Amino acid sequence: MSLSGWVGVWVVVCVQKEEAETKRRKKEEEERKRRKKEEAETKRRKKEEEERKRRKLDIKEEEVEDVREEEVEEEVREEEVEEVEEEVLDIKEEEVEDVETDISASNIFLANLSSHPAPHFDAHKLARRIYRIYNAHIFENKLPKLPMEFADIGSRAGFFRSCLKNPTVDGIFFSKVYCNTPARVRDVLIHEICHAAAWYITGTLGEDRHGAIWQIWTRTASSRFPALPPITEKVYCVSY
Ligand SMILES: [Zn+2]
Repeated sequence: MSLSGWVGVWVVVCVQKEEAETKRRKKEEEERKRRKKEEAETKRRKKEEEERKRRKLDIKEEEVEDVREEEVEEEVREEEVEEVEEEVLDIKEEEVEDVETDISASNIFLANLSSHPAPHFDAHKLARRIYRIYNAHIFENKLPKLPMEFADIGSRAGFFRSCLKNPTVDGIFFSKVYCNTPARVRDVLIHEICHAAAWYITGTLGEDRHGAIWQIWTRTASSRFPALPPITEKVYCVSY
């Protein structure tokens, strides 16, 4: 081959080489672009996923908020129910103080409980209120704040429990079956609170529990509150 022939071959080889190099670079560039695109896509998806999660969390928070609101509504409803009961019992909140400090207003309040049909009333709340009235006007507030319970206590309408060794079990118990009207709560309570007075004020339950000491207190109660029906001996403690 002549020299020019060799040069020609060399040029061709060079050109081919350069073409190959250009192709390689192009391929590399494409590959780089593809990777970049892929990375961008991955980033975008990640961001989307995070956004989704955040929204989900927001929804959950909203749900929690809703639940809280429902609870509040429930509480409001309970308050409304209580208000209705108060009205039925004819004792508005601002008059409560009067009822408890004024003996003649208290007497009228106790008398009115007889005519109360009481389809719904909060027996425990009423018992506490009457207890405060009795304690203030009959027992000069000498009685402790006794626990009171409405329970299934068999055939008794109520009883007073005291324990010298363990006064924490002391309390007045009402039959939740028998004490289904405000008048019955009032009448069982006056009977039992006279036992409590015999125990805490006089210092003894008395020989037969319904003996002289208990009767002193029932007489005091009747004189302070003439509206109360006669306080009988055995009706409440024994059976009804
Ligand atoms: Zn009794």
